Amino acid sequence: MEEFRVCPECGYQRGFHVSFRNRKNSYKIIFICPSCGSAYDLNLKTDKIESLNETKINQYKEN
Ligand SMILES: [Zn+2]
Repeated sequence: MEEFRVCPECGYQRGFHVSFRNRKNSYKIIFICPSCGSAYDLNLKTDKIESLNETKINQYKEN
């Protein structure tokens, strides 16, 4: 597969939402289909996240 973009479950083609799951010393990066809600694990993890305490930095505005 060249790109992970289409949901294998429902065929949604516009990519995924993302979620971070706390594991022992890292965070798993989970992809969630915005259409059907299926969650996918690409075995991607990071130890670069310090915590899940977010800071709001920007808000998308249409027009
Ligand atoms: Zn889907």
